[in-house]
Amino acid sequence: MMLDRASRPLDRVSDFPAIPDGWAYLDTAATAQKPQPVIDAIARAYGETYATVHRGVYARSADMTVAYEAARTRVAGFIGAAAPEEIVFVRGATEGINLVAQTWAATTLRPGDRILLSMLEHHSNIVPWQMAAERAGALIDVCPLTEDGRIDLDAAERMLTPAHKLVAFAHVSNVLGSILDARRAADLAHAVGAKLLLDGCQSVPRIAVDVTALDCDFYVFSAHKLYGPTGIGVLWARGDLLSAMPPWQGGGAMIDRVSFAGSTYAPPPARFEAGTPHIVGALGLHAAIDYVDGIGLDAIHAHEAALVAAARDRLGAINSVRLFGPADSAGIVSFAVDGVHPHDVGTILDEAKVAIRAGHHCAQPLMEALGVPATARASFGVYNSAADVDALVAGIERVTRIFG
Ligand code: PMP
Repeated sequence: MMLDRASRPLDRVSDFPAIPDGWAYLDTAATAQKPQPVIDAIARAYGETYATVHRGVYARSADMTVAYEAARTRVAGFIGAAAPEEIVFVRGATEGINLVAQTWAATTLRPGDRILLSMLEHHSNIVPWQMAAERAGALIDVCPLTEDGRIDLDAAERMLTPAHKLVAFAHVSNVLGSILDARRAADLAHAVGAKLLLDGCQSVPRIAVDVTALDCDFYVFSAHKLYGPTGIGVLWARGDLLSAMPPWQGGGAMIDRVSFAGSTYAPPPARFEAGTPHIVGALGLHAAIDYVDGIGLDAIHAHEAALVAAARDRLGAINSVRLFGPADSAGIVSFAVDGVHPHDVGTILDEAKVAIRAGHHCAQPLMEALGVPATARASFGVYNSAADVDALVAGIERVTRIFG
């Protein structure tokens, strides 16, 4: 039988020079390994074509500016933004959320307004809103989860009121892998006049994203989870929102005119990119998007779904293993082994050359809701194969033997 492209296993490990033979890297949700084309793009930028952007009058700088802006255009196309000007380069998702909290929220929230978050959010999609709410006298509500670990949108529908100005949800959970019905979340938010911010850290590397079709208002992600460099990420916001947002950091590049009588600001996105940007990071992100697009997100999702299904099946068959999250998780499996701290699970797996994450995953409220101090988490990427699932399962069987 012919396998279609989406269901054929990927065989990409040879693109990743930092993954030695026999090492099962299952921590892609924390950060993805880098494929050779991304490493080459970064080396070329520093080693051959390097110069500053936007300021230089010489050809090299003009060329670098073209490359930097081409990265912005590539990001816009990749996530379905209406225009490159809607793409703001930031340090990462964390900075993108803080930017929205300190500009849009700071000028929008009034005493008594409300923000709806969910129980599964990463700390970076909780703490900035707590800080913004505290400053404005606004309140935070927490949407519960369904039994299988999805944001309960029926509950969200009941909770939302005209006092809600913002809903901020993870598009894919970094702990449970659950995929949000983002379009429904947008419709629910908009029905009460609220905006929807989606934390796309775990979705952008795992499922095709089109911000226009999702009808959200803000979207953030980090390049390093998308096989790109650290230190750069993206805030997308609808053009009309971005144009109305005040600047947050002052400095070079974000101004229109500066005098001691007062300064005026550049239009977006420059208004939000004070200082010399992460030029080479943007080029690396461009290469990462080309790499991911070359494989296709449908193929990546199918590949990771197959690995998740195999891992859940086999781990679930071990008596002492408790699985969290839904069966159709996007590339992420969290679990606990009865009577064994997840850190011990992680250490024993490391001895078997299996790298997982163990801890609270920057989601302490979720840990509390699950009734555990921490979980072990295996997360997959384009370089993983069935052999990595075999190594994971063998490692967990060893854990259960050791702890008997
Ligand atoms: N949100 C989610 C869902 C994440 O998984 C992460 C990274 N663990 C973040 C936000 C924060 O991303 P960063 O540290 O790259 O800013």
